[in-house]
Amino acid sequence: MRIGAHVDPTDPLAEAASRAADAVQFFLSDPQGWKAPNPREDADRLRAAEVDVYVHAPYVVNVATTNNRIRIPSRKLLLGHATGAAGIGAKGLIVHGGHVNAGDDLATGFDNWRKTFAYAAENGGFGVPVLIENTAGGDNACARRLDALARLWDAVGEYDVGFCLDTCHAHAGGEELLDLVDRVKAVTGRIDLIHANNSKDAFNSGRDRHDNLAGGTIDPELLVAVIRAAGAPVIVETPGGADGQGADIAFLREHLGGTTA
Ligand SMILES: [Zn+2]
Repeated sequence: MRIGAHVDPTDPLAEAASRAADAVQFFLSDPQGWKAPNPREDADRLRAAEVDVYVHAPYVVNVATTNNRIRIPSRKLLLGHATGAAGIGAKGLIVHGGHVNAGDDLATGFDNWRKTFAYAAENGGFGVPVLIENTAGGDNACARRLDALARLWDAVGEYDVGFCLDTCHAHAGGEELLDLVDRVKAVTGRIDLIHANNSKDAFNSGRDRHDNLAGGTIDPELLVAVIRAAGAPVIVETPGGADGQGADIAFLREHLGGTTA
């Protein structure tokens, strides 16, 4: 099982080495900004690396919203980041499920997701697997709870859409972790990546504050059980830099058993 971390984008391979990580995830630009990513000077090194690379789309991306001034640039930004991710040989581009505004019909949000994949297909495709990630908060989210996720998957089912399961988001979002992998796979048919995070906040709090794996409000054994059941690559998005994340990666290797492959 490949295990890695979300790292600073300056020198991801050095960050991987300092954590003994098999994989890294990073942003290609300011996660709060609307800038399309520039080509990276280390693209050849990243493509050739033993370390698997994942790219996280900016947080501002919300392709579901009914607000044209957010939705249209979000589509373009997502496609731009997919192109950037493909250029460095990324295994996937992770993007949050997004939400509609209060009072809007969630059905519109799901259809906007469908249109996002249609738009990409008309423009040559994303060129990299796009993994929609479950989110922790809000009353109008497309991928907070599994009932919404099922409707989202109905909308985008004609496209090859991946799924990233964040354990902190599931817990804080109000989905029990026990047997969660089976329930998710019944909806999506797949889990492409796990974001392995503990949570500083209570079940169903709607808050998104990650904690180290052995800390937080989630029983670490339950985290390990979810990760083992998913059988997917793992990225920790936990605090503490190389020390904290390195300890989380070591914790997972120890508790998942076996060797990394
Ligand atoms: Zn995450």
